[in-house]
Amino acid sequence: MVGGECLLSCLASPEYQISLSSMMAIMAVALVLCLRSDGVERLKYYWVSNITLLSAVPIVYLGMSCERSFVIGLYLGYIIIASAVFLSIPRIYAEYLFRKYGPERCEELEDFLRSVSGSQNSKLYLLSTSEPKAFTLGKDVFVSAGMVEMLSDDELKAVIAHEAFHVMQNRFPLIKNLRVMTFLPSINFEGMADEFAAKIVGKETLLAARMKVRAVC
Ligand SMILES: [Zn+2]
Repeated sequence: MVGGECLLSCLASPEYQISLSSMMAIMAVALVLCLRSDGVERLKYYWVSNITLLSAVPIVYLGMSCERSFVIGLYLGYIIIASAVFLSIPRIYAEYLFRKYGPERCEELEDFLRSVSGSQNSKLYLLSTSEPKAFTLGKDVFVSAGMVEMLSDDELKAVIAHEAFHVMQNRFPLIKNLRVMTFLPSINFEGMADEFAAKIVGKETLLAARMKVRAVC
């Protein structure tokens, strides 16, 4: 027996059905809790739902005693390649930015970034471009000179707090990329980062920063 036929007959035993349906139930509960919560809590429930779904893969694989399914083999190959690509892209892009802009450390605001993100290794870099840009690569945050000039100190903190949320998201790169493996739909990470920043600097400051950035982008 191969493929789907094997999958259906081998996994028909009650013990596999019980363990797989329990995992699906945990995943569904975690997804509901994810949709009902916000901020870091939402992120955690999202990770739980992804990890639960992913842990069903070895159970399915082990359950298929008659023939290892080609589909599962293909899937395992895909997650190895996808993980390697997603883990290496931020490093390659960071290297490109260092060569193009020669970013400088911005130590005055680095303490703020570290306290908000909870990551003591995070670094804050200033890019020498007038285009207003801010983004996160791994644990490091990049803000352009154009962004710094355009915003007040508090508004700049709003942008850094938003990026600090992405630093938390990136804390476990493999977990961050779980949805590549599980195909679960993405949740609104940008909205969550804004909610997180609003709690730290206040909603009005965040909106003021957003308006200024939108006006020139
Ligand atoms: Zn963002």
